[in-house]
Amino acid sequence: MWSTGAQIYDVAVIGGGIVGLATAREFLKRHPGLRLIVLEKEDLLAAHQTGHNSGVLHAGIYYAPGSLKAQACVQGRAEVIEFCNEHGIKYELCGKLIVALNEQELPRLMNLWERAQANGVPGIELVDADRLREIEPHAAGIKAIWSPNTGIISWGEVARAYADDVREWGGEIRTNAPVIRLEPLVTETVVYVGHPGRDEEEIRARYVVTCGGLYSDKLAQMTSDDAADDLRIVPFRGDYYALRPEKRYLVRGMIYPVPDPEFPFLGVHFTRLINGDVWAGPNAVLAFRREGYKRWDIHLGELAETLTYPGFLRLARKYWKTGLTEMYRDYVKSAYVAQLKRYMPEIEPGDLVSGPSGVRAQALERSGLLVDDFKIQHGSRVAHVRNAPSPAATSSLVIARMIVDDVLQRTDLNPARSNSPNMAAVGW
Ligand SMILES: Cc1cc2nc3c(=O)[nH]c(=O)nc-3n(C[C@H](O)[C@H](O)[C@H](O)COP(=O)(O)OP(=O)(O)OC[C@H]3O[C@@H](n4cnc5c(N)ncnc54)[C@H](O)[C@@H]3O)c2cc1C
Repeated sequence: MWSTGAQIYDVAVIGGGIVGLATAREFLKRHPGLRLIVLEKEDLLAAHQTGHNSGVLHAGIYYAPGSLKAQACVQGRAEVIEFCNEHGIKYELCGKLIVALNEQELPRLMNLWERAQANGVPGIELVDADRLREIEPHAAGIKAIWSPNTGIISWGEVARAYADDVREWGGEIRTNAPVIRLEPLVTETVVYVGHPGRDEEEIRARYVVTCGGLYSDKLAQMTSDDAADDLRIVPFRGDYYALRPEKRYLVRGMIYPVPDPEFPFLGVHFTRLINGDVWAGPNAVLAFRREGYKRWDIHLGELAETLTYPGFLRLARKYWKTGLTEMYRDYVKSAYVAQLKRYMPEIEPGDLVSGPSGVRAQALERSGLLVDDFKIQHGSRVAHVRNAPSPAATSSLVIARMIVDDVLQRTDLNPARSNSPNMAAVGW
């Protein structure tokens, strides 16, 4: 084992996805002299959820009024757009339809409409079937919410631009740096990086923020908080199909179903990507490995942990039928396409080729409740991001501010007392 010697960081951020990078950037934006390090286990940034998603700049329609998601998404979208304008990052506000297919879906559509209004989503309209077809000529449906300000973007590119700011403002970013242990002491936390038993490195930080996505529960367990095992991450894989280039004309922007309010997922949808591709998906099936992007990727230990977690057993007891149907559709393309056909009657199995996949980190309570809102657990020396599912990419700049505000309020972090020579100068 070796250590970085006298080097003590003010802040260590664990996880180089969009939430970790936005948080690191926010610390440095406020306090440029801060000694900050980002530790990412992969050799690339944004390698997991941030680099495997639908690339939608959400407008804030779905979320319970007053929730963190509602607040952070509406504001976050506006801030991301400002960031992209300043940094020359491409995005497009191509708009999205949330479509009710029949009378039975109308009450749920109207609930969403009320939520969207309560959340202050800009520019939304309720449209009838004729207007719906003007916007998306090939879509089915009797009524829809039209959100012209929903957009498309590459979240990986945004995350890398956050990382550029971190480096430019004096932060350090290390890839290939898996954190294996955290040891909170009285005034600092020891962060062990590397592989257990060999080439372990010790880094010390006065405050640690973990933003570990699919491993956020594991990182939380490292500080052995009592609450740490009350929440587990259950990985839900989403597989996409891609429309063949000659069929991309079928979709102009985004076409979404009215989601089932019992689940935190939005349902398979059609999305145009910023690179011009059109994807259909993602579905939501239990992943047999947290970072497994193929249908047969399996990690026996991780799967066993999920299957024996009381929260998962309770969830499975309630929703086993939905889960099995979703799995059937995942393995049988014609069943997946039948679901898509409801929204786009012209589509045929031959129009679609297998696309990429993403795995969602979804927190599940021991009681069997899927955690809907963002969840951040703050402590005196360590904060853990426990649940940052969609729309966390859209909301990233606001989540970062929430985290940093809280850290600054509750800690004795004070640069005047730091051993960093720069810190006294920033007067923090
Ligand atoms: C299929 C799918 C579609 C989605 N669509 C959208 C969308 O359209 N719009 C939207 O706003 N959001 C969307 N989301 C959600 C969004 O992608 C995530 O909310 C967001 O990327 C979460 O960012 P993160 O930084 O928390 O997690 P991640 O991007 O997963 O980053 C976590 C990082 O932590 C690292 N890490 C983990 N453990 C350790 C360790 N021990 N040591 C060091 N590093 C570690 C990982 O390697 C990873 O890089 C989607 C997600 C999925 C999966």
